[in-house]
Amino acid sequence: MHELRKDPLLGKWIAVLSDSKGPDFYLEKNAEHPAHGPDDEGSCILCAGREHEAGREIFAIRGGNPPDWYTRVIPQTSPLFQIEGELGRRGVGMYDRMNSIGANEIIIESPQHTICAEDSGIAQMSRVITTYKYRLSELEKDPRLRYTHLCKDCGRAAGEGYRHPHSQIIATPVIPKGIKDELDGAKAYFYYKERCIFCDIADEEMRTGKRIIMDTANFIAFTPFAPRFPFEYWILPKKHNCAFQDIRNEEVEDLGFILMSTLKKMKYVLHDPPYSYVLHTAPNRVPRKDHWHTLGDDFHWHIEVMPQLLKKSGFELSSEFYIMATSPEDAADYLKGASPL
Ligand SMILES: [Zn+2]
Ligand SMILES: [Zn+2]
Ligand SMILES: [Zn+2]
Repeated sequence: MHELRKDPLLGKWIAVLSDSKGPDFYLEKNAEHPAHGPDDEGSCILCAGREHEAGREIFAIRGGNPPDWYTRVIPQTSPLFQIEGELGRRGVGMYDRMNSIGANEIIIESPQHTICAEDSGIAQMSRVITTYKYRLSELEKDPRLRYTHLCKDCGRAAGEGYRHPHSQIIATPVIPKGIKDELDGAKAYFYYKERCIFCDIADEEMRTGKRIIMDTANFIAFTPFAPRFPFEYWILPKKHNCAFQDIRNEEVEDLGFILMSTLKKMKYVLHDPPYSYVLHTAPNRVPRKDHWHTLGDDFHWHIEVMPQLLKKSGFELSSEFYIMATSPEDAADYLKGASPL
């Protein structure tokens, strides 16, 4: 089993793989830099027709023409986390270690190898969102899991695992440091102002309109005031809610619409860049002793979309002092004005 280790200085958890790789692993991975890895269509186990090779099916939305499914969820083929076993928290000398218990799932967003959900129309995009909702709701019930991370990596430079359109779920027995920092920031703001910082951000962005890309009945898409990546943008529900899995059915299609439309705009303006998006939602809400009572009021779920346009410099990586070659206001204008087909 892989091992989780905690950085004693910064509190970050990392995973050490049990099959430690030699230098050749990186040399091979970095030998070529095409936008995507080699086209693996002939051997892709996410494709329609190869369902029997993909392992146990965790969930599916069925219907339509053969292959009779729209989305499927399967276990990750080389999982970082495994669902069976004990957490095994232990201190070794001054260091904290833990077994890598968790869930690692692949959400297949389309039966077809080269057709993304955002290019298949609003009905398919809504099914993808529904699949996300279903899996996050289920994983929240496991008391060993603290956080369910949902992310999509598209393009080789964004670290995609398969070329086939898919997203990943990684549910961890700890709250990752990046999420914890965001939760702590939101909690501190609420303590000081007795308001949700994300509701305040939504109000401010709507008031000035300078960074808004799109606005629907229930959501806004905007470039954040201080982004980490050029052309980074966020999608935020207008109505306060801490957990994505509480999204109402009537909001699912609206979210599908704004996510689909903004992804198409980004791909059009930046010529199909590698990108990742992540869902930031409340930690699993199974009652536990260290949960704070204002979580439902102070946190507000959102999606962060991050195009990978430039490599970060050593200064940026070590200082987290990011340098933007495009202002977020200009980026919003480019995206807002784009009219992809
Ligand atoms: Zn495929
Ligand atoms: Zn809020
Ligand atoms: Zn966030």
